[in-house]
Amino acid sequence: MSGASPRVGIVAVSHSRPLAEAAVALALEMVAGDPPPIAIAAGTPDGGTGTDAVRVSEAILEVGAGGAGVVVLMDLGSAVMSAEMALEFVADPELRVRLISAPFVEGLLAAIVRAAGGADLDAVATEALAALRPKSEQLGDAAADDDQRAVDDPGDRADAPPAAAGDLASAAPPPAIAEAVVRNVAGLHARPAAVIAGLVAERGVALTLATDAKGPVDATSPIGIAVLGAGPGTRVRIAATGAGAAAAVEEVRALIESGFGEELAELAELDVAPAEVQPAAHPSHETPSHPLGVSSGRVVGPVAVMVHAADEPDPAVRIPADARYGAATRLREAMLAVAGEMHATAQMLSGQRRDVLVATAAIAADPALHRAAEALVRDEGATPERAVWVELGRTAAQYRELGGRMAERVTDLVDVRDRIIARLTGVERPGVPERDHPFILVADDLAPVDTVGLDPECCLAIVTEQGGPTSHTAILARELGLPAIVGAAGATALADGTVVLVDGDTGELIVQPDEGARATATGVITLPPFEGPGQTADGHRIVLGANVGAPRDIRRAVERGAEGVGLFRTEFCFLDRTREPSVDDQVAAYREVFAAFVGSRVVVRTLDAGSDKPLPFLTSDDEPNPALGVRGYRTSRRDPEVLDAQLRAIARAADAEQADAWVMAPMIATVAEATEFVARARAAGNRTVGVMIETPAAAFVADELCAVVDFVSIGTNDLSQYTMAADRMSGELAHLADPWQPAVLRAIRLIGEAGTRSGTPVGVCGEAAADPALAPVLVGLGVTSLSMAARAITAVGAIVSSATLAQCRTAAEAACAATDPAAARAAAREALAT
Ligand code: PEP
Ligand code: MG
Repeated sequence: MSGASPRVGIVAVSHSRPLAEAAVALALEMVAGDPPPIAIAAGTPDGGTGTDAVRVSEAILEVGAGGAGVVVLMDLGSAVMSAEMALEFVADPELRVRLISAPFVEGLLAAIVRAAGGADLDAVATEALAALRPKSEQLGDAAADDDQRAVDDPGDRADAPPAAAGDLASAAPPPAIAEAVVRNVAGLHARPAAVIAGLVAERGVALTLATDAKGPVDATSPIGIAVLGAGPGTRVRIAATGAGAAAAVEEVRALIESGFGEELAELAELDVAPAEVQPAAHPSHETPSHPLGVSSGRVVGPVAVMVHAADEPDPAVRIPADARYGAATRLREAMLAVAGEMHATAQMLSGQRRDVLVATAAIAADPALHRAAEALVRDEGATPERAVWVELGRTAAQYRELGGRMAERVTDLVDVRDRIIARLTGVERPGVPERDHPFILVADDLAPVDTVGLDPECCLAIVTEQGGPTSHTAILARELGLPAIVGAAGATALADGTVVLVDGDTGELIVQPDEGARATATGVITLPPFEGPGQTADGHRIVLGANVGAPRDIRRAVERGAEGVGLFRTEFCFLDRTREPSVDDQVAAYREVFAAFVGSRVVVRTLDAGSDKPLPFLTSDDEPNPALGVRGYRTSRRDPEVLDAQLRAIARAADAEQADAWVMAPMIATVAEATEFVARARAAGNRTVGVMIETPAAAFVADELCAVVDFVSIGTNDLSQYTMAADRMSGELAHLADPWQPAVLRAIRLIGEAGTRSGTPVGVCGEAAADPALAPVLVGLGVTSLSMAARAITAVGAIVSSATLAQCRTAAEAACAATDPAAARAAAREALAT
């Protein structure tokens, strides 16, 4: 091999930087000519002992630039874990990386010497693996033979070097390739791109997508996928290598062909020639040339103008060379933190609002974006904020060029950019303005995260200068039932407080409307209230109740036609209190809810303090694992009187209002706890007593639980969290803490079957109940009532009434049999369509 050929790169991963430096120095003493590319990923940035997967991934990319592959040697313990984890960050399908289980010092020496001599990746890896042999032979221990066998035939060893796992491009199986035709009208826009990227990242496979015109792009990058601009009818080539490649390619193919649950284009069977999304007629942005009504309703009110845009970071500022590593790490942390925050917000939502936020969070978490922005910091000394500005600006230009729906996503990119910059600079990004009166929100455009957080009590309507009929602002405004106009050029110049009339049907925006015009306002239009009763197409009864977690929810539940309350989160009577409220105070609070639902069932949950709902007087804030700690019913072991007082207050309030009160305890894990709770609740005067099933433990003993309670209610938010061992508040783990996960569905099936066997009512009161696509599946699993945010009841009621019980059961079985959430959704949808 000529000296000019790229050489295999070596990465030394150690807990201790001095150790790694000394080992490398020792090896370099054996190298006569130019050493190969070597990078050390050792110790913590502050000089301490430890390893860092991000740094390892950077080191791999640094020494792998030549293309000859990379050999990674680690010392011990978590260094191995960091190296394995680093591979997940190095989502570069071209880069071949081997993690070598050789002894650190001997292995480094052997690898560096061989790589310096121009040996190829296999030879360097083999040499490193055999490095212990001379020593073993000299000392006469048995390991020498074993080691030699391993080198001769690594496949023979049960603990063979992780070539398959560690080698991103040269694993034994041949590459898997398939083609899919994009079926959905909107093409591979932000949401489908995020879904594909999430799936591929989960599978850990190096997978690329390409069209005839563009690519290949790394399929863990939602931005990369989106800028393919693949519209309906486009053929997409899917290719992957490594373990699991064939299965992942097939999953992605099926996903693309499924149309992602969106509206499908009418493609004639043979009319699937490559068809990219055409650039928009508008050269740069799809903003309409005149105001456009995108969400119904005609309202009058004063405007509140929201102005936000980060200032352009100074391009002249440069980071000194020795501070670039730290700056790049800070940048990655900021991007991941923003992605995490957005995911966490998404977790609390359902339907399109959740999907939109998840897709936006995926932009912030995009590995290709991270690589590009970090390279600007490391290689050119750009400040982290400048790097984000430049890279997301570049992406925004590509989106604009694609036009149409993609151009409408530029606002999402700008929002992600501004959030990351705000985090890096510590300058708070202004959010939705707060006013002490209802207002019409006027903005240049609204980021999804702002829109989803809008309280329809305060915000009467939305007016934006940018955006089109398919912008996220429009989608979310419709879901929130807020009148909205987009494309209202110059609207942000209105003085705060100016009274305007907004018509979300005609796009009319009248400044200072006269009395005559004001009189034409009709108010907010939203889905009609649910007209119950909840039932399947063949008359199987499903009670559709509302969740009440704040006083304002009571009125909303009544207005939206809820058949009672399926989950009354009593914490709201206790939050912000430093002391337990008196029984009289509690009775008054509970009576308010009972009084609103005379004759209907109201399911009251006793205090669920702890973890995501800390209460200062009941929970401690120094638990290492609050979600697994003293929360929910468990707090009553420490403070039995708090629970008993609450149970007495509920019984008194129910008697006073003659309410049909059902009482249940959260976070039950054993039959003994359930039995004890039932006894205490009855002793306090409560008649109908049940428990929540939120832990896998409770699901497994559902039969025994049903034998001791009057009803059960499944908290799918926590059941998903505990079944999947994935923090419900973690954005990064949102794909796991998903009620569509087949494992969660099967846990629900256990409970549904136990309920059916014993005739025990089984409710679902987590966010899953508000997902119209999931509702029929839950019914098919044996659930007899669903409780959700009031706004979702009409949609869920409609979908439940459109399917027979038999169809729901088929959908449930199909979803349970699936292997992942996307497949479960697709299977349920298909079953319901037949
Ligand atoms: C749940 O866990 O699904 C539930 C309804 O309870 P919370 O979200 O209040 O924990
Ligand atoms: Mg819960």
